[in-house]
Formats: sequence, structure tokens, C-alpha cells
Amino acid sequence: HGREAPDYLAGLNPEQRDAVETLEGPVLVLAGAGTGKTRVLTTRIAHILSSGRAFPSQILAVTFTNKAAREMKDRIARLVGGAVEGMPWLGTFHSIGVKLLRRHGELAGLSSDFTILDTDDVVRLIKQIIQAEGLDDKRWPAKQFAGMIDGWKNKGLGPADIPEGDARAFANGKGRELYAAYQARLKSLNACDFGDLLMHPISIFKRNPDLLKEYHRRFRYILVDEYQDTNTAQYIWLRLLAQRPQGEPQNVCCVGDDDQSIYGWRGAEVDNILRFEKDFPGAKVVRLERNYRSTEHILGAASHLITHNEGRLGKTLFTDRRDPDDEKVQVHAAWDSEEEARAVGEEIEQLQRQEHNLNGIAILVRASFQMREFEDRFVTLGLNYRVVGGPRFYERLEIRDAMAYFRLVCQPADDLAFERIINTPKRGLGDTSVRALHDYARARDMPMLAAADDIVNSDELKPKARKALTDVVTDFRRWQSLLENTPHTDLAEQILEESGYTDMWKNDKSAEAPGRLENLKELIRSMESFESMRGFLEHVSLVMDAEQNEDMEAVSIMTLHSAKGLEFDTVFLPGWEEGLFPHQRSLDEGGRAGLEEERRLAYVGITRAKRRCHIWFVSNRRIHGLWQSTLPSRFLDELPAAHVDVAMPETSYGGYGRGGYGQSRFDKADPFANTYSTPGWKRAQENRNDATRNNWGNRSGHAVERVGYGESGPRSRTIEGE
Ligand code: ATP
Ligand code: MG
Repeated sequence: HGREAPDYLAGLNPEQRDAVETLEGPVLVLAGAGTGKTRVLTTRIAHILSSGRAFPSQILAVTFTNKAAREMKDRIARLVGGAVEGMPWLGTFHSIGVKLLRRHGELAGLSSDFTILDTDDVVRLIKQIIQAEGLDDKRWPAKQFAGMIDGWKNKGLGPADIPEGDARAFANGKGRELYAAYQARLKSLNACDFGDLLMHPISIFKRNPDLLKEYHRRFRYILVDEYQDTNTAQYIWLRLLAQRPQGEPQNVCCVGDDDQSIYGWRGAEVDNILRFEKDFPGAKVVRLERNYRSTEHILGAASHLITHNEGRLGKTLFTDRRDPDDEKVQVHAAWDSEEEARAVGEEIEQLQRQEHNLNGIAILVRASFQMREFEDRFVTLGLNYRVVGGPRFYERLEIRDAMAYFRLVCQPADDLAFERIINTPKRGLGDTSVRALHDYARARDMPMLAAADDIVNSDELKPKARKALTDVVTDFRRWQSLLENTPHTDLAEQILEESGYTDMWKNDKSAEAPGRLENLKELIRSMESFESMRGFLEHVSLVMDAEQNEDMEAVSIMTLHSAKGLEFDTVFLPGWEEGLFPHQRSLDEGGRAGLEEERRLAYVGITRAKRRCHIWFVSNRRIHGLWQSTLPSRFLDELPAAHVDVAMPETSYGGYGRGGYGQSRFDKADPFANTYSTPGWKRAQENRNDATRNNWGNRSGHAVERVGYGESGPRSRTIEGE
């Protein structure tokens, strides 16, 4: 290869260049946010290709999301100046797993046209298996067991490998049997679940050393981005492919940042990154310390915040981006989330007037229910936005279900709504009954709800279905009669309670269920600003009609989790309140480790910003018509004063300035600072809440309830008004 450095190497700093040019042997790039880790990987691939060391098909490159994979392909093409002829092995662990299984599935008993089951399919299947065992599936919910299986698969454990205690924990010790039965059933269906996309290749490689050897020869270079968030199964998979017998080249390059490990709750093991040097003796470890992304203030704020975590490797970061015009990280207070959304909307409009591109602006939320307020506001303003990494608020499954109930109450002829909810939650109305009802309605040209009212008096249905349908009809009649005279938010809540819909999610043990319950609460809240249920439904149809076009210039709204690896000129971080961020659930379930993961998430959030980072907290959330006062996030206390501006609201609400935020929380030493990292942090936090309550609680004179966002609704405490 040529002596003169190709263009793509010219812009790199010496450490980056070292990481790119050390193509032989294992390399670990361990470095903070924005230091160019992903850029190193991309450039490395370009270098491998254009120096002719390997064909595109000989490179295995793993990204965290499909979107990141697409971007990486585009960038490589730009670097090597021309289209890259495919990169078949560049993708996520899952997409690469699918590809391997399509080729070698028969070695795991699958034919190449196997199907991949989604979560709903999986739960249905497990339920059948639980019932077939003669177990009560109410006592031993399928969803819960599906979650356990997923957890085992994340750890790379098959039925034979699961720990005794785990196996005992479900169905009186039948956990292992059920797991094995589930795997057998999958095989007979020629199907696999997501976990299998890793598990099967692992066992195929373990049982077929010759095949593994073939892949060792094929993959001359292996690269992994976001290595800190690999789970055990991914780690095992990777080690099988990357660890070669003595004397064979081990050209593996992993990049990551222990401070950005944010998927522990899904089984990611940050230890994998720490083990790299043991797994690959002689590995070259490259540290990158120069951040190219953010201003000094943004970097300073994030770096200081993360020092509050104990379990970390620690690293230095600096930036040359120092401009006297750079603003500090802004902390803003708002009265409630409506004001928060309004103010953020105004700021964005102002940026727009200054000709900032909307594509460079992002709103990163901790919990998806927070998106709703922003989406509504942006629709009102006519501001383009896109929701990244998930459906828009009103498109979510649970929101559509709930809306179907509301629609049917307001418009009894809405058959689509009827069909959506008739057996959600399960009422024992199977496909046959619904089809009979459908035919009955069609024959008489009447809406299904009316037909249901009719058909229950005939003998077209089995008694059980008739009873279930009678109950549904009675429910809807009652709700319709309440439509005019009951406050519509109360009615909405009543509908979700009485229909059993809320309970359905409360009984659901999947990881998504708590978030869905939060979204349902937010849905009710969002109705408050409308006069009637009908008015609200109209509004939603307008929101849903708003265009979402990939190409248009738009503000991005997404969760902090899906913002990993991305960057924006301006980042808004709303909802920095105790209970929301850090999230109560993480604290309750994860203790100190949970808190540290939340803090890493805050670090990820701040470091997405290039030029502007605006953090918001609200002091009140109005839920169920009650003012609930929230405490500002402890993470705000952990930001360094030198890099942060606290903006005082100019509103007349009073309070903020007086005992105030800026004064007591940044200028004076916080008596409880640093106590969180001691084992007694939880107690310290309690004390602190007590100490802070007088400053923050109860400004409105209403009864004040502190709110958390736990699984079973707000974990709240009522504090009487002064
Ligand atoms: P994260 O930890 O957030 O994933 P990262 O370490 O992967 O960050 P990159 O996304 O690769 O960082 O780089 C951050 C930004 O800095 C990008 O805009 C990238 O183009 C830019 N950058 C990286 N290295 C250089 C360099 N040597 N010269 C100029 N810009 C650079
Ligand atoms: Mg990156």
C-alpha cells in the first residue's frame, strides 16, 4: 500500500490514526463520548478496503442499531470515494445472527425459511405450553416466563444451563422443563425468537468446529461499536468468532466507553469491555482524550457529572472548541410540563428564525410518555418533528387501544375501534365468535356494537361468549350515558378501569408494561386541556395526520436510550426531576447500580450536544387533577457551577427566585452532596427530600403529592397543605 497517507487518514489525530492503522492484532479503543470512536471504526474499514487487505465480505462489523449500520455504510462509501460493493456482514448482532441462521439453520434443526416470532407470538406460545403442563396460567403468567427466558438467553443459557434457583422460581420448579418444552415447540414450528438469533449460532459454532474455522478464515477483520453494551450472549458469540488458535491472526477491534453503558437493565455487561485485555492477550489499548463534538461547557458539565459514579475506569477529556460566545449549559425551571413544552417550542422557533436547521435539534426524554406534550405543542405550532426509534405517542399500541374505547363510546358505529378492543383485554371472545358477530352485522347492515346488542338475544353464540358480549354492551351503554355529564377525563379513566384494560397491563410482567401504564396516565392527562372527549378525539386525528417524512427538516424527539452514538447542535433535556430522572423504577430495582446507570444516561444525554444543551425541570405535574410537586433531579446538583447557567423564570408564579433554585442549589454547598455514593445514599436521599420539601413542595396551596413513576402507579406520599 502507498506511502503517502490517503486523504481519509489526514484528518485524524495521532491516537486515532494509531487505532486505524494497527490492523493486525486485537485493539481496544476505550474513550469518552465524542472522541471519534465510531469515526475510527469507519475509517478503519475504509483503510482495510482501500489498501486491499480484505474484500467487503471479509469484514464483520457490529453496530448497535440498524440505523447506525446504514450510516456507517454511507460514510465508508464516502471515504473510499465510491460505492462499496455490499458489506454483507455489517449490521447489528441480530441481523448478522439471522444471516448466519439462514445459511446454517439446519444445524440447529431449522430450515432456511424459519420464521422469527415477535413478543406477542412468543407469549401466546408459552401460554399454550404452560396450559399443556396443566398449570394455571393466571398463577404463572406467560408474559413473566417469556421475560425469564429472554433473560436467560441474554446470558447465553439454554435449558440445561440455568441456575437451580432460577429454575425453581417459576411454576414450582418446572422452569427448566417449560423452557425445554418451549424450545422443542419452536423447533417443531420451524421458528425462533430474538434470543435464538444469538443462541443458535453459538451452539452451531460450538458443535461444528469446522464451520467455525471456516468463519475464522472468512472474517479477516472484526469490528464492534458500543462494546460497553454487549450482553453475555453477544460476548460469547463474538469470542467464538474472534478468538483464534495460537498463530492465527486475531484482528479484532472493539470500541466503547464504560461511562455510556446504559443497557444493564437488558442484560448488558459492562465488564465485557474490562475483560478485553484478558480475552485477547497483547491487545493494544488506545485511549482517545480529545473530544471533537462539544463545547468546553458541555463537556465540562458532563465530565463532572459522571465523576459522581464510583464504578468507573475514569478518563480525561478535553476539547479545543473554546469560543467566548459559547453558552454554558442552561438549566431552566418550568411550572409544569405544559409550560416546559411551550418554552422549548419558543426556543426552537427562535433558533429557526436565526436560521438553524431543525435537523440539528433534538429533544431527549427519559420516558416515552414525556413525548406527548412536545408532539402536541409542535403540531399546534406547525413545527416539523419526527419521533426516532419508536412510534409517535398516539401511535403506541396502548394508546391506540385506549383511543379505540373512547372512539367507540363517542361513535358507536366505529367498527374498526370495536374490532380492536372486543377481545382486548381477553374476554374469551375467540375468532369464531367475532366472525359470527361480523357476519350477523354485515347481513343486517348494522354497526357491530349494535349487532352485539342484538345477537346476545339469539342463540348464534355459545353461552360463554354471549355472557362476555352482554357485559361489553352493558359497559358501553353505561359509558355512553355518562358522556354528557361526567367530566371527560374522569370518564376516560373509568372506561380504562372498568373495561379491565388498565389491569391488563398491571398484570403484565414484561419490561414494557410499566412504560405503557405511564403512557396511559399521560393520555388521560393530555385530555385535560380539551372541553370534551369528542374535541380530544378530533385533535388526535389532526396530530396523526401531521406528515412524517424522512426527508423533511424536522426536530427529533427520542428517548435518551435511543440517542446513543448520535449528535445534535442543540439538545433539550426535559424532565430532570427526582422519580423521573433518575427514574424511580431504576432506584427501586437497581439500588446504587441503578442510580449509576441513570447517571450514565444523563452523561449520554448531555454529550449528544455540540453547541447548546438546555436542561429543564418542572416543579409540578398535574395528575388526576391533583397538583403533585416534584423535586429537581439530584443530577442538577451534580453539575459544576462553572459550566452551568441557571435561568430564572420571568413568570409571576413566584417561588423560584426566593428560596430559590439558583441560590441554594448551586451557590451554596449542598449539605447532602456526595452522600449518594455512600452505602446509605438512599437514607440520605430521604433526609434530603425532607429537608428540601419546604422549599419545593406545595407552592400552589393545593394538597401536594409527591410522585414517582413506579410500576403500580405513582409511589406517592401525600403531604398536607401548609
Ligand atoms: P460516542 O461516544 O458518542 O459514540 P464517538 O467517540 O463515537 O462518540 P464520533 O461520533 O466518532 O465519536 O465523533 C464525534 C464527532 O467528532 C463527529 O462529528 C466526528 O466526525 C468528529 N470527529 C472525530 N474525530 C475527528 C477528527 N480527528 N477531526 C475532526 N472531527 C472529528
Ligand atoms: Mg460512537
